Amino acid sequence: MENSSDSPNPEPEGQEEEEKAEKWSDWKWQLKNRIMSVGRLPRPSHTHNVDEKIISRVTDVFPMAVTPYYASLIDWEDENDPIRMQCIPDERELISGRGEMEDPLREESYSPMPSIVHRYPDRVLFLVTMKCSTYCRHCTRKRKVGDRNAEITAQDIRNGIEYIRKHEEVRDVLISGGDPFTLSDQALDRILGAVRAIPHVEVIRIGTRTPVVLPQRITESLVSVLKKYHPLWINTHFNHPREITPESEKALARLADAGIPLGNQTVLLKGVNDSPEILKELFHLLVKNRVRPYYLYHCDYSRGIQHFRTPVCRGIEILEKLIGYTSGFAIPLYVVDVTGGGGKIPLLPNYCIEKSDTGMTLRNFEGNIYHVEQDQEYRVPVSTDAG
Ligand SMILES: *Cc1c(COP(=O)(O)O)cnc(C)c1O
Ligand code: SF4
Repeated sequence: MENSSDSPNPEPEGQEEEEKAEKWSDWKWQLKNRIMSVGRLPRPSHTHNVDEKIISRVTDVFPMAVTPYYASLIDWEDENDPIRMQCIPDERELISGRGEMEDPLREESYSPMPSIVHRYPDRVLFLVTMKCSTYCRHCTRKRKVGDRNAEITAQDIRNGIEYIRKHEEVRDVLISGGDPFTLSDQALDRILGAVRAIPHVEVIRIGTRTPVVLPQRITESLVSVLKKYHPLWINTHFNHPREITPESEKALARLADAGIPLGNQTVLLKGVNDSPEILKELFHLLVKNRVRPYYLYHCDYSRGIQHFRTPVCRGIEILEKLIGYTSGFAIPLYVVDVTGGGGKIPLLPNYCIEKSDTGMTLRNFEGNIYHVEQDQEYRVPVSTDAG
């Protein structure tokens, strides 16, 4: 923000404050005033721990953008602040880590055209933009988001809709990017209308980080567009309890009140949220805001995010501390999106100690052992359906 607050004239202060608050809650102002270069970072006197040269070197490779709102959540005194780690460039992004590659999920080989990834039998990922209001340092599509050469064109979107129309097996369309809510209400209305007009599409989903980084964007007018296209589900991307603010709670309430089922995908990030206490607090706050924790992702193998990656077993250890100890619906499924295009593989603590003809030996969350009998006469019913 401009340094206008130390104006010598005390008179219009109340009015100035009011104008400031009005601008602050205007999402277009937030977008226009995104922090995209070192020079625009807020500079409280204690930001000596920001190395401008390093940030410039990193942003030459991976762009930076942070909404003033999201930046205001940073505690600059703390070099390892979880909000800061997610949005301010770090030297370690330039390191190539073990097993990292440009396209670890092999999305490209499942991508018949720039806007479509068709990996699973009955659903597609429909990429409608590569822009985001805030670029996450841990983004899995880091190589593409914010890259002018990878931008999705209007023709790409038309081709995507045509693809979905031709593929009658697609019953679930996941609109993502980039962040779809960087598009205008009119553009979203057109895209959603076109997808909803396809008879075999049962469910539309939107994946967005907007309630986290730009909650002001969830306006009454956006919601009135969205609710025309039910059944519409939204998955958002909260990673830390400090991201739940009065603003984001208001955005979530607007969406939930419009009858939109809300889910959340959290990425397990070293130094940000890799502890059962932090995640439990986050998941409790989410369900209080009518958001169902959906997936907890192991940090994948995209280039430049090694410093965020925990061992795979860390996610299982964390689940072990949640399952049984809190509401089942506050616990997401832990998934590893494996390198090589295998897709998402769910992982659970191992509760099965032994399997035999007579049954199974299981342990419960407290470590007690139980035996479950198995009917030896049981036969799997023969399927009559050709599929
Ligand atoms: C995650 C993902 C989906 C959706 O998967 P669900 O398990 O149904 O949420 C669809 N397509 C691609 C390419 C994905 O990565
Ligand atoms: S909002 Fe999503 S697509 Fe955009 S940078 Fe963050 S993780 Fe990547």
